[in-house]
Amino acid sequence: MMEEERTARPALAPCRDYDPASVRRALEAVIRETGGLDWVKPGMRIGIKLNLCAAKKPEAAATTHPVPAAELTKLLTERGAEVVLGDSPGGPFIAPLMHRLYEATGLQLCVRAGGTLNEDFGYTEAEYPEGKSLKRFAYVDWLRSCDAVINFCKLKSHGMMGMTAGVKNLYGVIPGTHKSEYHYRYEDPMRFADLLVDLNEYVKPRLCLCDAVEIMEGNGPTMGEPRRLGLLLACRDPYRMDRLCAALLGVKEREIPYLEAAKRRGLLPEEDPEILRMAEPYALKDFRRSGATASWFARSEDDRGLRKLAKRGMYVLFRSRPVPDRGCVGCGKCAQDCPASAIKIQGGRARIDRRACIRCFCCQEFCPTGAMKAQRSLAARLTGR
Ligand code: SF4
Ligand code: SF4
Repeated sequence: MMEEERTARPALAPCRDYDPASVRRALEAVIRETGGLDWVKPGMRIGIKLNLCAAKKPEAAATTHPVPAAELTKLLTERGAEVVLGDSPGGPFIAPLMHRLYEATGLQLCVRAGGTLNEDFGYTEAEYPEGKSLKRFAYVDWLRSCDAVINFCKLKSHGMMGMTAGVKNLYGVIPGTHKSEYHYRYEDPMRFADLLVDLNEYVKPRLCLCDAVEIMEGNGPTMGEPRRLGLLLACRDPYRMDRLCAALLGVKEREIPYLEAAKRRGLLPEEDPEILRMAEPYALKDFRRSGATASWFARSEDDRGLRKLAKRGMYVLFRSRPVPDRGCVGCGKCAQDCPASAIKIQGGRARIDRRACIRCFCCQEFCPTGAMKAQRSLAARLTGR
């Protein structure tokens, strides 16, 4: 196999827990396997884009764990690089909220490892005429100022996209409150998937890493349950890494809209038996998803007439919906974050206007009590989708 082809493949290494020495060994192994760090030069400014979706403790498995992030920081600073770590979750992208988030997620460990936590909360409009779905977007300045970006994601279930790993993690290059607007503009899951692919093509991370030591299942991406998978992954290519992630979770690729979008755009081969073989010894048989995506029925550009109509009908029938359960305390956070203004608080509970809801699942992601759930449709439950 040609060297270039070999290093474009994903790599995985067992890592039982977050003991720093074990994490370091596993990180070194997967990075070596994907071509090493010789591209890192002294003085280079490297941005590590973590998943910091909520101010939660590392044990909650909602965010990239600080130990792998700190060990990566050490590997880069040992080569003379300047390392800055951060993210922009939903909500205002401002210092007090981000400081709270850094504190809760244990990122001081990365500062002790020689990195700095991002303090630049500005953004600038990026032009991307080559984009399929996204030709212009708000891009965070802290990553723009870096010579290279490393995408260090967390593997979790996700209401809208089926799972979140490397590709979805780059949605965080759009500053907090702007995300709602993009959700509203890109309501169709396949258009949203194309937006994610555009972001990955624009940012072109030098390396993608995935913290799959403790993953999240169930009501992800913020309020699900942690589960031990015991792996660290790396790949130069975000689509191939996420293909490996899907195989590890036992989720069909057709259920991940952005993998379908990458295939349609020729960025991911239709099949890759070697990645399936790689995942086989570790693959979960009973991973609990967050709702069901209906992307089997997402329309493609060449669908016309009746086929287009039929797919739309099936999509509407099978898609999940957000439903608040008895744990709802009527705090109104979901109503505040809903890009479609589809939620009202009545009688101390969240009420959703189904006709206005665009199924973006921001309410589920940001509900502080975990009361908002992605509920599979009756058709999806009856057919086991
Ligand atoms: S954010 Fe959660 S707890 Fe608060 S009103 Fe919405 S569903 Fe209820
Ligand atoms: S109700 Fe929830 S899923 Fe529906 S549009 Fe609002 S935030 Fe998105």
